[in-house]
Amino acid sequence: MNSSGTGIFAPMLQPVSDKMLVEIADEFGSPVYVYHAEQIAARYNMLTHAFRHHPTRFFYACKALSNVNILRYIKRLGGLLDCVSINEVKLGLYAGFAPDEILFTPNCVDFTEIQEGVELGVRVNIDNISMLEQFGNVYGGTYPVCIRINPHIVAGGNYKISTGHIDSKFGISIHQLRHIERVVKTTGLNVKGLHMHTGSEIKDVEVFIRGLNIMFDVAIHFPELDFIDLGSGFKVPYSDDEQETDVNLLGERVAAAAAEFEQNYNRRPEIWFEPGKYLVSECGYLLVKVNVIKQTTATVFAGVNSGFNHLLRPMFYEAYHRIRNISNPDGARRIYTVVGNICETDTFAWDRVLNEVREGDYLAFSNAGAYGFEMSSNFNSRLKPAEVMIEDGVARLIRKGDVFEDLLRNQVV
Ligand SMILES: *Cc1c(COP(=O)(O)O)cnc(C)c1O
Repeated sequence: MNSSGTGIFAPMLQPVSDKMLVEIADEFGSPVYVYHAEQIAARYNMLTHAFRHHPTRFFYACKALSNVNILRYIKRLGGLLDCVSINEVKLGLYAGFAPDEILFTPNCVDFTEIQEGVELGVRVNIDNISMLEQFGNVYGGTYPVCIRINPHIVAGGNYKISTGHIDSKFGISIHQLRHIERVVKTTGLNVKGLHMHTGSEIKDVEVFIRGLNIMFDVAIHFPELDFIDLGSGFKVPYSDDEQETDVNLLGERVAAAAAEFEQNYNRRPEIWFEPGKYLVSECGYLLVKVNVIKQTTATVFAGVNSGFNHLLRPMFYEAYHRIRNISNPDGARRIYTVVGNICETDTFAWDRVLNEVREGDYLAFSNAGAYGFEMSSNFNSRLKPAEVMIEDGVARLIRKGDVFEDLLRNQVV
């Protein structure tokens, strides 16, 4: 992969063909999530290549997509794991990650959940003074710890996915550094890492570098430090006019900043990242079937057999997902509003130009790998879809779709 110098990269792999997607929908039913494994590998290789100038590790943020088959695949690639709940930690261990390959970054959990992480032997990242103090009181310097800092960098376009702003619940404010030092000194904490994650979808490389320089300033206060974790925020394009984060440029800029730090302080911490979306967004498709074409006075609706219970991002983040009619790729181009079948305003896309859509056609949503299935629910007592993974050209089921009994499971009847 070469950078064009503008931050735009040529696509690395051809998307899965319409023909294959239609075959998958026919075989496994719809709606169905489909993940193309080699696309994850391509993304992973792009990252490792871009950051080859400095020791760098990549912890896949598995809240984006936590199917154990995906976790095992990422493990095979050499990736590590970032988990935000103890259950994600357990899934990671189940998938075969060693405890020290897992970073546990919870937020607003009680201390027992952090202790469970310690008992499982994973790396722990603490994001508030109260837990840091409790951690220090119980473990002192016997268990290494990473501290999540809020550097107050506002990143990304959307407030809902930005975590670095002044009102954010994430991290310990950089302005509380003195307090952190007080806790560390008093309890003898062994601070191995500093972490920041300012949000999703940062396309400006300078935002990362600004964050890294702030982290270096903080690092001076922690002589035991092994690594600085810059979290994620790697942006992937969801529409044709969006640009992705230029990881090659970022790799060079990170290496230069680290070299300068080494020159000044004779220390060379590793740099860690926690990509979620970047690794798995574009590998995924959601395939749905058109139930109804409904012409109103103003709009032609294509009503599909899915809804925000399966893909929440459009309604939750006003996210744009490309949509193609994979059943009629040569049909005349016409304008549709694509809606779901949930009894609630449930719009996937307004005014989309699609090849003529007929009842029974399959539509494919792109970039459905990250925060797709993972945010799905049984709202309206509808069933969650199956998940399918394509590897070496072969599609296989990696999660069965729900059946009616799943709705009653756990109800006391
Ligand atoms: C969500 C999250 C990530 C991943 O973010 P993406 O935008 O999906 O890359 C990384 N680190 C932490 C702590 C997160 O909460």
